[in-house]
Amino acid sequence: MSADPSWMICEHCDSVFSRTALLPGQRAECTRCGAVLARGGRMSVSTHFALSVTAALLFVFTNTLPLISIHMEGLSNEVTLWKSVEALVTGPIVPIAIVAGLTTILVPLLQILLLCWLLGFAHVGCVAPYFRSCMRMLEHMRPWSMLEVCLLGILVAIVKLSGMLDVHPGLGLWTLAMQTVLLILIADKGICGLWDDLEGELT
Ligand SMILES: [Zn+2]
Repeated sequence: MSADPSWMICEHCDSVFSRTALLPGQRAECTRCGAVLARGGRMSVSTHFALSVTAALLFVFTNTLPLISIHMEGLSNEVTLWKSVEALVTGPIVPIAIVAGLTTILVPLLQILLLCWLLGFAHVGCVAPYFRSCMRMLEHMRPWSMLEVCLLGILVAIVKLSGMLDVHPGLGLWTLAMQTVLLILIADKGICGLWDDLEGELT
């Protein structure tokens, strides 16, 4: 391993360490609190960018294709993510609708747009305009993206409803699952590596 002269700070206890190059599979942990500081073998900018574009396509499918279809006594209904939020808005629990729309549609959309913006420029070796603000927004939005919670809730609903109704998972559920995995992969701490990749370009 070769030592890098720059420093890294533990987000949990503010301890400062000298940065060390890590091999794939290795990870650096804080000696004080045990938090993971960095992982080796992170994906390249091109891979991140390709996955971000894929996530954008999956977002479109997730919000247009039915998540579940319900059949009962000759009647059938298909539910999309957007329609479920819309149904909550027209009901008596509008605050829940706002939270659901925010955490399952708006924040993931903003995450994908910001990732495509930042990585699109980084892919050609440039720093995106408003780079610092966009990176900070991505960091602040991470806890508000709750696609995995939404996915789990839908799966529980399917299992519960299947005892009373004829319920089938739709194509939108599969694209939601893929979008969830992709966002966890590309919007995690690995994206912070852009600070290092573009260090020479930042002024
Ligand atoms: Zn620490």
